[in-house]
Amino acid sequence: MRAGFPDFRLGNVLATSFTGTLSERHGDAVERIPTPQRLMDWLAVNGLAVEGCTTAQLDLARELRESIHAAATAAAIHDALPTSAVQVINDRSAQGRAAAVLTPEGKRRWLLSSASCVEDALSVIAADAISIIAGERDGRLALCASPTCQAAFFDTSQSRTRRWCDMNTCGNRQKKARFNASRRKNPGSAD
Ligand SMILES: [Zn+2]
Repeated sequence: MRAGFPDFRLGNVLATSFTGTLSERHGDAVERIPTPQRLMDWLAVNGLAVEGCTTAQLDLARELRESIHAAATAAAIHDALPTSAVQVINDRSAQGRAAAVLTPEGKRRWLLSSASCVEDALSVIAADAISIIAGERDGRLALCASPTCQAAFFDTSQSRTRRWCDMNTCGNRQKKARFNASRRKNPGSAD
């Protein structure tokens, strides 16, 4: 963690963890990759470490992020996918040369074509987004129930009834709000 920058929210789905680097899109938005270094930090945490990143590459990353957000949101509400977002996702997917390799321990690792190729890392994220938007993976795309968030997330719970993108942030906030509201209605009954 780097002092002075907002933390990352880590999920287990690469594409929606990436869209989560901008949170509270409908409230006071929090940009979690404000600098090229922070994008590098995020990529490293997600198994896509690169040794350099330019501001142009950061721009590409954010453009991809917002395109995934737009397309995943449309998919979640069964709307037509926005053409421009689909184009960006496809371009990023096609313009990277990352290879999946198997480690001796049987884990998948991503091998980028060069240590500074942010485009390769973005292609892995774009391909991940394509697999969830195309419905190829076991789960359901949904929108966070928090009105200030409304992030698209991938629900892999057995009942497919998850309501929040993140239980520790949006879920907790909602619970607290409900608790406070019920206390106001019935003063003295709680605590
Ligand atoms: Zn949320």
